[in-house]
Amino acid sequence: MSSQTESHARPGPPPAELDVLVVGAGFAGLYALHRLRELGHRVHAVEAAGDVGGVWYWNRYPGARCDIESVDYCYSFSPELVREWDWTERYPSQPEILRYIDHVADRFGLREAITFGTRVTALSFDEDADAWTAETEHGDRVTARHVIMATGQLSVAKPPEIDGIADFAGECHHTGDWPHDGVDLDGRRVGVIGTGSSGVQVIPRIAERAGHLTVFQRTPHFVVPAMNRPLDQEYAAELKTRFEEYREQARNHPGGTHRVRRPDSAVQADPRELRERFEEYWRRGGPDIQAAYRDLTTDLAANEKAAEFVRSKIRELVRDPEVAERLTPRGYPFGSKRLVLEIGYYDTFNRDNVRLVDTRTAPIERIEAGGVRTGGERPELHELDVLVFATGFDALTGALLKIDIRGRGGISLREKWAAGPRTYLGLSTHGFPNLFFMAGPGSPSVISNVLVSIEQHVEWVTDHLEYLRKNGLRRSEAVLEKEDAWVDHVNEVAGATLYPLGNSWYLGANVPGKPRVFMPYVGGVGRYRQICADVAARHYDGFETR
Ligand code: FAD
Repeated sequence: MSSQTESHARPGPPPAELDVLVVGAGFAGLYALHRLRELGHRVHAVEAAGDVGGVWYWNRYPGARCDIESVDYCYSFSPELVREWDWTERYPSQPEILRYIDHVADRFGLREAITFGTRVTALSFDEDADAWTAETEHGDRVTARHVIMATGQLSVAKPPEIDGIADFAGECHHTGDWPHDGVDLDGRRVGVIGTGSSGVQVIPRIAERAGHLTVFQRTPHFVVPAMNRPLDQEYAAELKTRFEEYREQARNHPGGTHRVRRPDSAVQADPRELRERFEEYWRRGGPDIQAAYRDLTTDLAANEKAAEFVRSKIRELVRDPEVAERLTPRGYPFGSKRLVLEIGYYDTFNRDNVRLVDTRTAPIERIEAGGVRTGGERPELHELDVLVFATGFDALTGALLKIDIRGRGGISLREKWAAGPRTYLGLSTHGFPNLFFMAGPGSPSVISNVLVSIEQHVEWVTDHLEYLRKNGLRRSEAVLEKEDAWVDHVNEVAGATLYPLGNSWYLGANVPGKPRVFMPYVGGVGRYRQICADVAARHYDGFETR
């Protein structure tokens, strides 16, 4: 498979001594870097990729797009930045987001404080010095009092575990590590494995170009229309005049957006009105359909009504009833796996050059030089020139646990989190002082508008570091009892929803052997923000400082 880091030379090693080391230069790392520099800390970032952007640097597959609206999926910390940047579409495409991040890096002169093409491989805490030492793949050693892990939630691509991948004679690419100069798809025989968010985005775009496309699907997802369109510039301009107020609403909203949850119950709704309301959300597009009734995420009977509506839409949109049936999600609640937005997905299966293979009845046995071999009643070799893995990521913990992180007394994070991640507020973990996570497990993270969550995390952590500096404190560590209580709370709020029934990557279910723990905090962005603010107001209650 391709890897995008190889071609990027690095200008030199990172500085050997810092106040703060930032690992990663996506949205979180860039903002942390900017804010800490403004506050006068000696700070530097180390980034595995060849440039800024994080997931938007790596996920360059055709059709890659954000499913939060552009006016929400952006920074708010700089009013000048808000004023000068104009989004063009309702849902921004990957190239547009990358242009935005590129602009941010230039505008704030961030690249000079980043070492690219360099992966941090190990971190160890020196108890006498109250400082971390980082090692990189190039043998650099960096010492820093604090480390901010801005390593991302979806930054470790997870190829499928299928025998024979190395035998494939054609080209093979993961959507999360897509070649910068694109992939020649025109007229070729292409196979896509995976029909989650990335698969649903890439499949229609490949079908338009490929000679033939075979889609290998294990689990059909609930997919709703994005109804993407050019952004209404009048609306965008008007929003800029009151952006701070607009964003403040998102900061206090459960999902970090502006979605309005309707107060009535789907269970009690009249069937005709129910259908009309779902139709209205379908026409409007986007994920807000999850808020069409108050009980869709908490009550199975209510949820089933939304699920059945989407199923009926699939039957309407896909001409071949057998294919429609194979695309129909069953056996898990609507929205308990990430709701997927589509642009032309269902219609793709009406094309003559597209075939859907259901791997539940025709399991993939192995990959061979010529293509993908499936079994079942009619064993077959699907001959391919290009194979695309849209199989997702080792989410939330993957990037952290790839690094050999050793805290106090040499304790390893991999061991500590062997049964699942344990954090206090999602920000920190006992035994690992002065180490902070950005939008990771135990925080709203991927269940929210991640940009809103990232800004809150960066601001909270940088405020905390200021507090330590002003009070002459060298160490801050999460207290074990507080961490245990937080983990209980995270589990408790997840348990009151239908999310844990989804068998999704939120639970680690896509990675064989990964512990099944519901990782994000679903208590709401606004509530979470308040909890963090209260902790800070109580002199960082739950953190032992000295
Ligand atoms: P990332 O963007 O993942 O950046 C982390 C960086 O850290 C990467 O560049 C990585 O190379 C680097 N890194 C990791 N480990 C190391 C190491 N050991 N050494 C050095 N560098 C390292 N979120 C939403 O809110 N809405 C969406 O619609 C949405 N759509 C998405 C679509 C796709 C295809 C993907 C993949 C993600 C999407 N996300 C979405 C989630 C996305 O992860 C966040 O929105 C956000 O971009 C995360 O920024 P980040 O800086 O925290 O992490």
